[in-house]
Amino acid sequence: MKDFKRYLITAALPYANGPIHIGHLAGVYLPADIYVRYLRAQKRDVKFVSGSDEHGVPITIRAMKEGITPQQVVDKYHTIIKDSLEQMGVSFDIYSRTSNEIHHKTSQDFFLNLYNKGLFEEKETEQYYDEKAKTFLADRYIIGTCPVCGNPNAYGDQCERCGSSLSPEMLINPRSALSDATPIKKKTKHWYFPLQNYEAFLKQWILEDHKEWKNNVYGQCKSWLDNGLQSRAMTRDSNWGIQVPLPDAEGKVLYVWFDAPIGYISATKELTENWQDYWQSEDSRLIHFIGKDNIVFHCIIFPAMLHAHGEFVLPDNVPANEFLNIEGDKVSTSRNWAVWVDEYLKDFPGCEDVLRYVLCSNAPETKDNDFTWKDFQEKNNSELASIFGNFVNRTFVLMHKLCNGKVPKLHEDVMDDLDRNLIREIQNSKVKIQNAIEEFKFREALFEVIDLSRKGNKYMQEKEPWKKSVDGGPLTVDRKLIDNCLHLCLQLTANLAILFNPFLPFTAKKMLHMMKVVDKMLDWGNAGSTKLLSVGYSLRAPEILFRKIEDKEIEEQINKLKTGLVKSENTNTKSEEKEKLLANSQQLKAQIQYDDFAKLDLRVGKILSAEKVEKADKLLKLEIDLGFEKRTIVSGIALHFKAEDIVGKQAVVVANLAPRKMRGIESNGMILMAENAAGKLIFINPDEDTDAGSGVS
Ligand SMILES: [Zn+2]
Repeated sequence: MKDFKRYLITAALPYANGPIHIGHLAGVYLPADIYVRYLRAQKRDVKFVSGSDEHGVPITIRAMKEGITPQQVVDKYHTIIKDSLEQMGVSFDIYSRTSNEIHHKTSQDFFLNLYNKGLFEEKETEQYYDEKAKTFLADRYIIGTCPVCGNPNAYGDQCERCGSSLSPEMLINPRSALSDATPIKKKTKHWYFPLQNYEAFLKQWILEDHKEWKNNVYGQCKSWLDNGLQSRAMTRDSNWGIQVPLPDAEGKVLYVWFDAPIGYISATKELTENWQDYWQSEDSRLIHFIGKDNIVFHCIIFPAMLHAHGEFVLPDNVPANEFLNIEGDKVSTSRNWAVWVDEYLKDFPGCEDVLRYVLCSNAPETKDNDFTWKDFQEKNNSELASIFGNFVNRTFVLMHKLCNGKVPKLHEDVMDDLDRNLIREIQNSKVKIQNAIEEFKFREALFEVIDLSRKGNKYMQEKEPWKKSVDGGPLTVDRKLIDNCLHLCLQLTANLAILFNPFLPFTAKKMLHMMKVVDKMLDWGNAGSTKLLSVGYSLRAPEILFRKIEDKEIEEQINKLKTGLVKSENTNTKSEEKEKLLANSQQLKAQIQYDDFAKLDLRVGKILSAEKVEKADKLLKLEIDLGFEKRTIVSGIALHFKAEDIVGKQAVVVANLAPRKMRGIESNGMILMAENAAGKLIFINPDEDTDAGSGVS
């Protein structure tokens, strides 16, 4: 590998149209932060930049729906996102925003540079226009039938089913995603970037020169390149965004994917006057951390732009991750099927490192992966608490009990194979962890660190210092064996602080406090050494590093996820629009057999009473008459119906659903609801009043 003098690490700009969820952390921000913390501990020159992406059509639509300005939308979410990332310990050198003046200027200059070289194609085309919504429709906002596979819900830029790259003109029966109206064609002028002119360059640069890129990234690039590239419009009709800096461009803004990656440059400019060292010097290493949905923008379009401009370095690597699912289901912000970082921070104060640990050890590095609350609890309780936390705690407790709270001596004369083995393990682990991090294999690296703690526990278990006698003075063999064991366990503890630091920075800080040492000890160069804590140095009393997480907390989170699963009217992210459309689509669930259906016991019930559940704005507590018995059912419909309006209504009840506790109330069953495209809920009940308890089949 080339010897780089400095590093510029970027993390994808989150879209300021909603809070961030743990999928964002696992996919982008944690791996980037781990890598940066490691580089800093290595004393390498590194800058870590990101910021909010504040332009684009979804923001204007959101503002329109909420009756506020786009600026108000982005101000709100920029703050929420910035705070969440900061509190999770994501240690940006700068977290900027694309609405800043410096970014507008930088993007316009970039555009003009390409324009003045004559690199854009200026085309007047007829584009789809929604007369109802009075707006031109960006590609994503036109849906229609895919000409390749027949998917009735393909987008104007891509078919999600067969992966074909499309243009709106290729869709059969196009319709507006905003109003469902059939769009009309209207003339408009735009500036296109002819990607096909960079095909040869990109093929050489990626397919030949960057064979080391992760398989998922390399593979996606190859398939884009093999399919051939086309001109892409780099401007849009909108009044929200960066003005196209040309005289005849009223009402035109830069395409959000033209300006967003330039945000990395603007943020670096804002951070340091030496920004050119990082962007324009061949010995700088640029690395983009992103999710898989952004690969084409970071590996094809942005590098082609940078290459065309000519004054910038290109990314040396783009270690994109796949997606993180939640409890076996795809994250969907529109269905609220997500674990929101700001909510996690409120529900689990002081447990930032636990989430960092679980997300990293489960990171979707090579394929989509699953987050479950049970696994979260399991990893905390049986790895962090019982292996790592327990080892550190035992070491400190025994050192206080058997060695007067001071680092004991190492007596070479009684060292045995177990001791020498442990020292070797500490040295080997450092090398393995380092190699894995350098290759962006953070899961593997983290596994090695926890495994080293496991080896520490095993070592102590075999040495059993508590069984040795402390009587008889400093020169007895027993005394020396106690000293050696605790000396090495303490040196291992110091090593664990260094090795865990990129992953669990809050915990590493606590350990420094316990060991009464300064931050400098965390320098990566110290790892592997067994001379980190000086003999005779007195250490503080242990603190508990990880508390147990109780079943109750986990149940609450699972319930929260399930009861929160209401369709919101809001559209939170760029990809949410996409999900919302998918959710409304005609795609069926997997086929079932009659036997599967026959397991359901559906009954007609009558609502006897309904009341709001305290502190749960989505829940109603219903008393339901099933003829043969009365039931309490908690239902997540409070945002849709007033309690008093539904008393006396009939409803179809799933009568044999296992009971579930919600907000301390046991719910015995579920009522069925239809939901229309706008997310409105409608009762399912018999056409005429029917005896309570009647079966439905
Ligand atoms: Zn298709």
